Amino acid sequence: PDALARAESLIATIPDFPEPGILFRDISPLLADAAALRTIAMAMAEPYVGSFDVVAGVEARGFLLAGAIAVASGTGLAPIRKAGKLPRPAGSVSYDLEYGSATIEMTDDLVSGARVLLVDDVLATGGTLRAGQQLLAQLGYTLAGTSVLMELTALRGRTVCGDVHSVFTV
Ligand code: 5GP
Repeated sequence: PDALARAESLIATIPDFPEPGILFRDISPLLADAAALRTIAMAMAEPYVGSFDVVAGVEARGFLLAGAIAVASGTGLAPIRKAGKLPRPAGSVSYDLEYGSATIEMTDDLVSGARVLLVDDVLATGGTLRAGQQLLAQLGYTLAGTSVLMELTALRGRTVCGDVHSVFTV
């Protein structure tokens, strides 16, 4: 608990980024700290230990956490990328953003039915993680769980993407 509180204290809150009125949670100082990084990697996986084979992270900050969690858990890693980055995407899901829309893609390199832990840094409206869940389902993978470092509870993303484990809530 002390280690978690210390890790949480390393998340910076930046006003008016990337737009006026947005309070942005910057996890860079936490990532830079060895003990904090290890602590949160284990905390994000903790409810799902033994029940997933691969960690899938959403570009770009989700990649960083997925890598740390996969190594700490002894599992593989799968990147979920923004459209147009993968040479041979096998699945694709589009979703609405506050302004416009986005598309995420993934390859089908995992074994059929692989149990996947889906992770990202921040749960805001839930659109991104919902799309990630749909992408995993489209490719026939099993969702072992959805885990975020920080949940912005006021945005009620949990109502959009179901049961989510969040290490920190604000
Ligand atoms: P959602 O789709 O839930 O509305 O937004 C979540 C996505 O936006 C995540 O991929 C997350 O990285 C990013 N995001 C939204 N707000 C923040 C924030 O305050 N800090 C960080 N680091 N990412 C955010």
